[in-house]
Amino acid sequence: MILIVDDTPENIFSLKTLLELHSFPTDTAPSGEEALKRVLKKSYALIIMDVQMPGMDGFEVAEILSGNNATKDIPIIFLSAINIDKKYITRGYLSGGIDYVTKPIDPDILLLRVKTFYRLYEQNRILNTVQDNLRKEIEFRKVAQEEALAASRRKDEFMSIASHELKTPLASMKAYIQLLDRSLDKNDKVRSYVERTLNQINKLNALITDLLDVSRIEHGKLKFNESLINFDDLIRDVTEMIRQTHPDYQITITGKDGIQVVGDENRLEQVLLNYLTNAVKYSPDCKEIQVNTRLENNLVIVAVSDFGIGIDKKSQSEVFRKFYRVEGSEHHFQGLGVGLYICSEIIKRHKGSCWLQSEPGKGSTFFFSLPAANQL
Ligand code: ADP
Repeated sequence: MILIVDDTPENIFSLKTLLELHSFPTDTAPSGEEALKRVLKKSYALIIMDVQMPGMDGFEVAEILSGNNATKDIPIIFLSAINIDKKYITRGYLSGGIDYVTKPIDPDILLLRVKTFYRLYEQNRILNTVQDNLRKEIEFRKVAQEEALAASRRKDEFMSIASHELKTPLASMKAYIQLLDRSLDKNDKVRSYVERTLNQINKLNALITDLLDVSRIEHGKLKFNESLINFDDLIRDVTEMIRQTHPDYQITITGKDGIQVVGDENRLEQVLLNYLTNAVKYSPDCKEIQVNTRLENNLVIVAVSDFGIGIDKKSQSEVFRKFYRVEGSEHHFQGLGVGLYICSEIIKRHKGSCWLQSEPGKGSTFFFSLPAANQL
C-alpha cells in the first residue's frame, strides 16, 4: 500500500487515480500529523509526500520516521512545487527520504519511480521472510540437535548402568555353574550341558565387557597400566589362547623377535585377541591364519591375515567405527560391531594406528602399529 500525503485534495485525487489505474493500492493523509498517525497503525511500501504543507512539513515528517525503527526503512518520494535546490535535496535524503520529484508532476516519471520502489519493497519483503524462515529453521535445528545429544547421553548412561548391573548376576551364575561342574561325576552326561552353559556365559560376559569398554571410552575412563612388555610373549600367549578354543585353525607366527613395547599388557592382548577372533570368525572355510611382526622406523607393525570372506572397498574405511558391521555379514556372524572400535581406541592411546587390507572372497589383513621401546 502507498501512502499519499498532501494538503491539497485535488493533488491527492489525481495521484490516487493515477496509481490506482496502475493497480497500486493507496491510502491518503491530508497533513504531516495525520501521515504519522497512519504510519504507526499500518505498514506502507512507499510514501509519496508533499514537501510544503501547513503545520508539519514533509521533511519534518521524514525526520521523525527515520528516527523510528519500525518506519525508518519506508522509502519516501518528496513532491515539491519549488525549484530543486541542492539544500532541499540533501535535507530530504538526510531525513530518510530517498527520491525527489518536482511539480508539475510528469506521470510517467513518477510511475517509473513508484515501480522501482515497489519492486525494492517486494524484494525486501521476500528477503525478510526468507531470513525469518532461516532463523526459525536454525532455532528448530538447534533444539533438535540438543534433544538428540541429550537422548544420546541418556542412551550411553543406560548402556553403562545396564552393563554394570548385568555383570554381577552373571558372575554369580558363572560361579554356581563352576561349582555344579566340580560336583558332577566325571562321566556324568550332564557335564556336557554344564560346559556348554559355561561357554555361553563366557560369551555373554565378553559382550558385556565390550559394552562397558565402549562406555568407558566415551566417558574417558578407560584406564591403562603401562609397563615394559615383551612382545614375543604377548603374541605367543594370545595365539595359544586361540589354539585352545579353536584347535581346527592353523596359526603361524613369523617375523621379528625380541621386540619390546611400553603399554598396557592386558589391553594390547585384548587388541590381538580381537584381531585373531575376527580372523577365525570371518573365515569359516579356510582355517589358516598368519601373524606377522615387523619393525619399521622404530614402529612395531603387527599383521593378522586370514583367507576368509574379506571386506568390500566401501566398508573398509568404516569397520573401526562404533557399532559398524559390514552389510550382509551381520546375518551370518554374531557380534555387536564394537570390537574393532575398542581396538582402535586402545591403539590410539598407545600412539599407534590401525588399518587393513582386504579383498572380498580372498581374505583380510588387519594391522596395528605401536612405537617400539627398543631400537633393534
Ligand atoms: P563384530 O565382529 O562384533 O561385528 P568388530 O568391530 O570386530 O565387530 O568388526 C566390525 C565388522 O568388521 C564386522 O561386523 C565384520 O563385518 C567386519 N570384519 C572384522 N574383521 C573381519 C575379518 N577378519 N574379515 C572380514 N570382515 C571382518
